[in-house]
Amino acid sequence: MTRRVSIFGATGSIGQNTIDLIDRDPDGFEVVALTGGGNIAQLAADARRLNAQVAVTAHEDRLPELRDALAGSGVEAAAGEGALIEAAERPADWIMSAIVGAAGLPPGLAALKHGTTLALANKESLVTAGPLLMRTAAKHGATILPVDSEHSGVFQALVGENIADVERILITASGGAFRDWPLDKLADATPEQAATHPNWVMGQRITIDSATMFNKALELIETKEFFDVLPSQIEVLVHPESLIHALVGFRDGALMAHLGPPDMRHAIGYALHWPARGDVPVERLDLARIAQLTFRPPSEARWPALRLAREVMETGGLAGAAFNAAKEKALDAFIEKRIRFTAMAEIVDTVLTRLSSDPGLSSAQIDLDNVRQMDQLARVRAAEAIRENT
Ligand code: NDP
Ligand code: MG
Repeated sequence: MTRRVSIFGATGSIGQNTIDLIDRDPDGFEVVALTGGGNIAQLAADARRLNAQVAVTAHEDRLPELRDALAGSGVEAAAGEGALIEAAERPADWIMSAIVGAAGLPPGLAALKHGTTLALANKESLVTAGPLLMRTAAKHGATILPVDSEHSGVFQALVGENIADVERILITASGGAFRDWPLDKLADATPEQAATHPNWVMGQRITIDSATMFNKALELIETKEFFDVLPSQIEVLVHPESLIHALVGFRDGALMAHLGPPDMRHAIGYALHWPARGDVPVERLDLARIAQLTFRPPSEARWPALRLAREVMETGGLAGAAFNAAKEKALDAFIEKRIRFTAMAEIVDTVLTRLSSDPGLSSAQIDLDNVRQMDQLARVRAAEAIRENT
């Protein structure tokens, strides 16, 4: 049976891995929408090859270029946030949410309102608006499947289990580019150094977020929101080999680990074939050759982002939206070499402290409007903190 699929963020690392799986089974899928940002050539080439209904770029000023690149193909061209929403509303059986950053939230929400199955790589959606996302999915009978490797691992370990029997969830972290650097060298780390990952090949932003552990900080919040567990039940474990992605501890003492190669096509493939399992062309682990897996606790001095995530989970409400927005601004400033590596966490800390007097921060009822307002406010506060820091 042919399934209708759409891929948001198709030109990115997750998007391209998703397309790789779809390309291997051309008769299995009918592509509805592909979306991208600035990489028009890739978007148009994939939309043509996969015979998509529509290709959407987030950048309105790039529409003429996209139209030219799609001329004569029969694929519609569209641009801008409204077009992204419209594409998310087109009937599809499975939608990949793999835009990077807070921009992934509106199309994801629009898709859920149509009762679709949403494969969620865009962790920022859960961090900024977890209760809204889960509430919307429940109201419209939609399904959210985690694509982040740790969360896919937890999800797989929970098949046939009762969440009430879960004592703890452990998500692993490789430690990123600077796991073993002397602490006093971190301030001088460059974006190029931070954008190299020991095990995974990912987009630039998430790779730098792995070095600061802002990625793991987002994932702590993502775990709380998706699995509805207490912050005290979630732990981070440094595991340099990146082969165990997550572990679930049960009330009888059992610890179920999810192992897999560091290749996102496993988690994407699991979500694509769910609830069945399908063939996925990833490397098979040879544990006898690997011989050894190692673990250590995360150092809060090296990775202050983890402490900040715990504060955000304590505050609740819109703190996740503020945290993510401040992090995105600080990351931009680091990539532009305006601030040091270690300043990213300082700036996010400053923004959260300054916003803590805002009664709106712990606002219980989250909707798209107040998430957007908090996102904007945190970006303004972050810009101030960045100016003070430079
Ligand atoms: P990339 O940076 O590789 O790709 C991001 C995608 O989003 C691209 O298609 C990009 O378009 C598009 N995009 C960028 N900005 C906007 C915007 N403002 N509006 C709409 N689209 C935009 O990111 P990744 O694939 O690495 O990550 C995607 C998401 O998946 C992130 O949330 C990340 O945290 C998550 N994730 C990624 C993993 C990985 O292995 N890469 C692992 C687990 C989670 P273009 O490139 O054309 O400009
Ligand atoms: Mg992850």
